[in-house]
Amino acid sequence: MIEGQLLPELNEFTEPFHEFASRGELRIQKCESCGVLRMPPRPMCPACGSTSFVWQLMSGRGRVWSYVVAHPPLLPAYAELAPYVVAIVELEEDPLIRLCGNLVFDSTGPINEVQASDVTIAQEVTAVFPPADDGFVLPAWQITGATQPT
Ligand SMILES: [Zn+2]
Repeated sequence: MIEGQLLPELNEFTEPFHEFASRGELRIQKCESCGVLRMPPRPMCPACGSTSFVWQLMSGRGRVWSYVVAHPPLLPAYAELAPYVVAIVELEEDPLIRLCGNLVFDSTGPINEVQASDVTIAQEVTAVFPPADDGFVLPAWQITGATQPT
């Protein structure tokens, strides 16, 4: 957790995602009618219109779909950590489900440890859950493997 970090606004649909993350679980909404995964969380399935869903446990495995290296000007809380890498990760279960997060070498490591030269598109990553000092956990992505062809 970064002091002064901007956090997502929670509502009845997004709060469970963060509650599961605080337990070390990556769960994504899954339609109970047609089985389609959806992110961000919302009340209705975009495929079939059903409002019935479950929070499906994911493997936590994914691949880097894209990434950026953050440089100043940034908000003060982030400026002192720059440069750092932020990735968009596609999930193994459904590559169209993409989550944004910091890239790390381990769950307790600093977010500015990973450099752009450590990252490639399609690199294998695993969701990790850095410790939070205020109970709010944002999943990060640990580099775990080699680049896989797309
Ligand atoms: Zn559906």
